[in-house]
Amino acid sequence: MTQETTTIKLPTPWRFKRYYFFILITVMALVLPWVEINGSHFFLLSFDKLKLHLGFVQFDMQELYLLPFLLMMLFLGIFGMTVMGGRVFCGWICPQTIFRVIYRDVIETKLLKLRKRIKNKQQEPDMSIAANKVKKAVAVLLWVILSFVASANLLWFFVPPEDFFAYMANPLDHMILLGTLLSFALFLVYDIVFLKEDYCIYVCPYSRIQSVLYDENTVMALYNTNRGGHIYNDDKEKVFTKQKDLQAVEAHAECTACESCVTVCPTHIDIRKGLQLECINCLECVDACTVVMGKLGKPSLVTWSSEYEIIDKQGKTKYFRPKIIAYIVLLVGIAAAMVIMGSKKEHMLLNINKENRLYSVHKERDGRIAVENAYEFLLQNTQNKTLNFYFEVILPEGVQGTLEIEKPKDSFDVTPDIKKKKIVVLRTYDKLADDARHDTIIPITIRAYAIGHEGEIEVLRKSTFTYPREDVLREAK
Ligand code: SF4
Ligand code: SF4
Repeated sequence: MTQETTTIKLPTPWRFKRYYFFILITVMALVLPWVEINGSHFFLLSFDKLKLHLGFVQFDMQELYLLPFLLMMLFLGIFGMTVMGGRVFCGWICPQTIFRVIYRDVIETKLLKLRKRIKNKQQEPDMSIAANKVKKAVAVLLWVILSFVASANLLWFFVPPEDFFAYMANPLDHMILLGTLLSFALFLVYDIVFLKEDYCIYVCPYSRIQSVLYDENTVMALYNTNRGGHIYNDDKEKVFTKQKDLQAVEAHAECTACESCVTVCPTHIDIRKGLQLECINCLECVDACTVVMGKLGKPSLVTWSSEYEIIDKQGKTKYFRPKIIAYIVLLVGIAAAMVIMGSKKEHMLLNINKENRLYSVHKERDGRIAVENAYEFLLQNTQNKTLNFYFEVILPEGVQGTLEIEKPKDSFDVTPDIKKKKIVVLRTYDKLADDARHDTIIPITIRAYAIGHEGEIEVLRKSTFTYPREDVLREAK
């Protein structure tokens, strides 16, 4: 009688999918700061130029009301992602995880063969061997270089590459930038070479809050106790190390006790113990068990699934549950509010202050009485090029055409990002009011615009023109 061997087709390991995702994120992070459209970056928070670039649109620091929207979206996005997929951010997006994979798996294991296998992350290299000491030094040196690249890359979102390299040509003139670059790079060396996954377990605040976000439908790396058997008791103590002992209690327990899922774990935990704070959802244990159980013709005992589906066997995981829908609604709402606020962006800035003296009245040579109001205009050109500006006064019905701009007579240039002060004098020769006891306040609207860009680069500001009472006018005659 021949024994039939069942073979199952192994799925593409999650590890490879993560690597592709890491490459995509890394390329995007490296390339995005270099991409400019009309002089604007995708994201740049420039403290030296007091500018926020978002989605290739520039905003002035006075327009930083968009930043809280971004932060809300970031936090809500991460929280929503955690409710849906556990610590998926840690395993798939977090730079700490990507850097550790580069340092431990690529440099130390694949490149320098300092570690034996990617599959065994528990076994530290034997540092009593001289050759390993040299390899470690080379690994650290390579990582120091990459740390500087990573730190510079981070800074490019605050100091664009075109300025960064110009500033770094004279580093002593830019000590803050140099100090920040060095600090980030040194921290990365300490973090990735020495702190390792302890950062994820003990330092990162996200690991503290994530467990309160989980529910029974949260998708995470899960060991199927129904199939595999209970390796740990209710007090989380390990009670079995051999399959035969386990099967003596649970005859159908499938876990071979090979511990492949344990040795591969970068945070050094045993997923068979249940949900643990240290798990970063990297799914390496899923891949490991898939191989082990695959050889036996069975599906993995560790899967990326929910307690609802795997442990409680209540049916398929509910992805679109009320909590998730609430997060999606909130995110879409905030994104819509941000787009609406962003679309109301003014393409120039103008503040108008009226001078302390309400008005001046004088008699012209031809006998006409001139009434003048003076204002201080503070105008800022937020575009990338020098523009030529002028104004128009819009008056209420009944008095249209009665005010003229006495000063400045001509349009004027304003260079980008310079705040230009202009004294503006409005004058009238007409009788705008006939009040014996009080001055008359006439509401006016100032339309300031860039010549040649009317309708696009222009703003409207409300102000007033004060017309004197009768006795003041009489005195001037
Ligand atoms: S238990 Fe370990 S290997 Fe498995 S997903 Fe969590 S961190 Fe990764
Ligand atoms: S890899 Fe699978 S079979 Fe091996 S110990 Fe882990 S859960 Fe058990």
